[in-house]
Amino acid sequence: MRILVVEDEHKIANSIKKGLEQELYAVDLAYDGEDGFGLAATEDYDLIILDLMLPKMDGMEICAKLRQEEKIHTPILILTARDQIDDKVKGLNLGADDYLTKPFSFAELLARVRALSRRPKNGLNTLLSVGDLSLDTLSFEVKRAGKRVALSKREFSLLEYLLRHKGRILTKEQIISHVWDYDADVLPNTVEVYIGYLRKKIDKPFKNKPSLIQTVRGFGYKIG
Ligand code: CA
Repeated sequence: MRILVVEDEHKIANSIKKGLEQELYAVDLAYDGEDGFGLAATEDYDLIILDLMLPKMDGMEICAKLRQEEKIHTPILILTARDQIDDKVKGLNLGADDYLTKPFSFAELLARVRALSRRPKNGLNTLLSVGDLSLDTLSFEVKRAGKRVALSKREFSLLEYLLRHKGRILTKEQIISHVWDYDADVLPNTVEVYIGYLRKKIDKPFKNKPSLIQTVRGFGYKIG
C-alpha cells in the first residue's frame, strides 16, 4: 500500500510518515501543494492524505483537479483545522473520502487510513485469494489449504500486492514502488529475496500443490 502525504508542517508530515512506515505502508511526502499535486497526478498511490492549508496550491484545489481534470479516484483523506468546518464539507463535495480534524492522535489517523486503504477498490474484496490460498486484509490472516501461514509484515504487503493484481505480470520496479516507499534504498535483488521468503512459506510446504508464485523471466513475477 503506497500513500502520499501532502502536508506543509514538516513535523506533522514526518511523524505521519514515520508512524505509517512502522505499519509497513510505503509513504511519499510533499511539503507544498504543487509538489503534492504533481506526485498525485503522476505516481500511482493507494491513498492520499491531504492537508487543506498548503502553500502554492491548497488542498481543495488539488482535490478538485485530481477528481475533475485528472480523473484520479484514489481515496483522499483530508486533514483540516477544527475551525474549517465549511472547508470540510466542501472537501467532501469535491470528492474527498474522509476527513480528520487537527490535532489528531496517530491511532485515529491509522484507523482512517486502514478503513480507506482497505476499502474495496474496483469491486475488490477485503478477502483476496488465488487457488487454495487466501489473505484477509482486515484480520491479516493468510491460509493455504486450510492451514494458517505466518508472514512478516513485509511479506504480507508483498503477497497482498501480488493478489490485488492476480494473473498480471508485475515488474520488480512496480513491486518496489508499492511495497517499499520512494526513498527506500531498495535494490531489485531485495524483491527476489522477499519473493524467496514468500515461496518458502506459501509454496514449498505444499509440495503436491501447484506453485502459486511464478517467475516470468526478464519481466517479473505473477501469482495465479
Ligand atoms: Ca498546512
